[in-house]
Formats: sequence, C-alpha cells, structure tokens
Amino acid sequence: MLRSIYLFVLIALLALAGVWLADNPGSVELRWSSYVIETSVIVLVAALAITALMIAILINIYRWMRASPGRLGGAFASRKRGRGLDAISNGMVAIAAGDAEGARRAAIEAERHLKGAPMTLLLAAQAAELYQDDRAAKVYYDRMAENPETELMGLRGLIALAKSANDLQGAITLATRADAFKPGTEWVLKELLDLQLKTRDYAAAAAILPKMPRGKAAKNSALPHLRAVIDYQRALTKLDTEDTLGALTLVQSAHKSDPDFIPAATLLLKLSPADRKRDKLVSAIWARTPHPDVVSMVKNLVPLESESDWLIRAKTIFGSAGGDYRYSNFALARAALDAREWGDARKYLTNLASGEPTAIVYRMLAELEEKANADAAAARNWIIKSTEAPQDPLWICNGCGRQEVKWTAHCPSCDRFDSLHWRNADRGEVDGILEAEVVQEISAVS
Ligand SMILES: [Zn+2]
Repeated sequence: MLRSIYLFVLIALLALAGVWLADNPGSVELRWSSYVIETSVIVLVAALAITALMIAILINIYRWMRASPGRLGGAFASRKRGRGLDAISNGMVAIAAGDAEGARRAAIEAERHLKGAPMTLLLAAQAAELYQDDRAAKVYYDRMAENPETELMGLRGLIALAKSANDLQGAITLATRADAFKPGTEWVLKELLDLQLKTRDYAAAAAILPKMPRGKAAKNSALPHLRAVIDYQRALTKLDTEDTLGALTLVQSAHKSDPDFIPAATLLLKLSPADRKRDKLVSAIWARTPHPDVVSMVKNLVPLESESDWLIRAKTIFGSAGGDYRYSNFALARAALDAREWGDARKYLTNLASGEPTAIVYRMLAELEEKANADAAAARNWIIKSTEAPQDPLWICNGCGRQEVKWTAHCPSCDRFDSLHWRNADRGEVDGILEAEVVQEISAVS
C-alpha cells in the first residue's frame, strides 16, 4: 500500500517535472576539444535518465550472476561430471571384458574430468591390475587408503596385492588395520581368518571366531566344525610343548563343537585317562563315527597288547550292539587276521562279502587264502576281483583330489585348509593309482 502511494507520488512528480521542463525549454551547450553539442535541457535529462537505467540494469545482472556462480559454471561442471561418469562406466565395462587398454584409457579420461574422485582411483587401480602393473595399482590403492571415505576399499585392494605377492604377514597387518577401522566387517573377518589359518596361527584364528557374524553361518554346521578343527590344531600345538592337560581341554572343546570330526574324537580317546568314563566315550564315539581311525586308536590305547588279546577286546567293543554292523565286521576281520584266527576271520569276511563288498574285503579274503591255506591261485582271484569292486574311502582333498591315509589340516599338495574329506574316490580318476596298487598286491601275495 505504502509502496504504491510512493510510486504514485513519484510518477506525479516526474510528470510535473516533464510539464515544467516543456514549459521552460532551456538550451545546453557541451564543448569538448573541437566538438560542440547543442541540445535542449529536456533531451539532456532524458539521456541522463536512460544512462542511469542502463547502469542499474547492468549492476543487477552482475549481482544475479555473482549470487549464483552455479548458474553458468554449474552447467559446464555438470557436463564435465557427466563425461567423467561415462568414462567410469566405460572403464568398468572394459575391466569386466578384460580389456586392459580400454580400461586404462577410460581411467585417464575419467581422471581428466573428475580429478581424484574415489571412483577414478578405483578404476585406475583396477586398470593397472589388468595390466599386471602391481606397483601402479598399489599407488592408487594407497591413495584410497589415505582417505577415510575410501580407506576400506583401498585396504581391500592392498590386501589382495599383498596376498598375490605372497606377503601374508603384510596382508595380516592390512586386514588388522581394516578390522580396527570398521570392526565386524564380514569380508575383513573372513580374510583375516583365512590368513591366520594360512600362516598356521591357530590361536589368532580362534580369537577371530567369536567376532564372526551370527545368524546364517552359525545355524549350519560350518562354524562349529571350523571351531573344532581350529581347537584340534591348537591341541596339537599344546602337545608339541608337552602340555597334555592344555591339549586335553582343547580337544574336549573340539569334540564338543563337532562330534563327527574324527581326528578330534580319536585324539580325545588318546588323551583321556584310562577309566570307565573313557570306555563309555569309546562306545559313544564308535556308535556315532565308526571309522578305521577310531579302531586304530582304540587298539593303541592298550600298549604291548598281543594280537589275540586285541581280538578279544575288539569283540567286546565292536561286537556288541551300536555302531554300523559293516564297520564292526571290518574291524573284527582285521583283528582276526592279525591274530591268525582263521575261522573268525572267515566268518566276518563272509558277512562283509554278502553285503556290498568294497575292494578291501577282497584283499582281506586274498590275505586269508594266502596265510591260512597258502592258496596263491585263490588269493590272486580275490585280488583281481578287488580291482572291479568299489574303492574304499580315503581322506581325499576337495581342492586337488589328493588321497591321503591320514587327515591333516592343510592338504599336503595344494595347502588348502580343511579340504581332506573321508569319501570314495571317483573311480575314473583313480584308475592309474588302482592299477599300481593291484600290481603291488599281486606281487606281495604271490
Ligand atoms: Zn589338495
């Protein structure tokens, strides 16, 4: 309201001034050097007013631009950003396709537009890795690791580089730093655990396990089994320093974590004091995991025992109910053969042969014919039959297929952790080994 009154008064004053000027036309003369400008006062006033208006407009345009630099500069920057992002996506496609040169060019283009943005560093590092230029990749990952925003991503790249250079201690240091930076990150814990196992630092590995995420992993048997294997290895370390009690505690916890883990079960038998509790443990273990390693361990529990005494003891342990009937027959047939009790041996082997005999049953039958009857021809026939029978299980590496008689935490061939599993070899794969075995057996028997 006040503003419109003010405007009205202003227009009225201007109109009055215009009328007054028209009524009183004066003249103005401007002289500059040899130029003379002659005009009326009214024209001069109009020229001044127009000039003032122009200046006001220019000042306003200048203010408007200064207040928002993004309006003009922003359009330019967003085009630059768009190009940078295009370069990054092209680079990612090149990396996925394994095109090292394409990735490198895209990384340079992205850096030109986005100068040091986290994604350009990552792209540059990955392009360098594709070029197998680990030194350049390390420089980029190092730069990422210096910035809290990209530290974890940078560390991940550095850990992978350290591992590929076989610098396991360096990788552990980096992973520990990543764990301190963001505690509880799943991939960091897994990486750290994997590295500790690779370097055989089982105590450190055991310390990581409680930090592992609960939920899915804890529900299936993987985590308890892992704990059992680690505690078993720690028990072996204690035995190396003759700390039998420490070893017993650890192997007890290993057996509790995974009662199906045979090495822990057998070591627990070995370390348990000889009392009725141990007898109960033997029955429980045999009922749950009837395994040849358990038989060997039970046999060794009584030192300097004669083969005949062992057969009597084996009959009371494996002959009673509980455990797999077939595995009991295996154990008793072996004990009878060693005790030279041919009648018993034949009885157990006939039991086994009436089921689904594996190669070892035929080999024991050959042994019986050879030792009891000195019948080399019959023995040879059983050996030939054993080559056609299904193979017996062994500790076989899931990674490289290596076959072992004894379980070890790391595969002796490919060094993979906990890869040896008690299972039947694929017949196709073991043919070569089978033939060599047969030749050996035949030459031993005849
Ligand atoms: Zn292996």
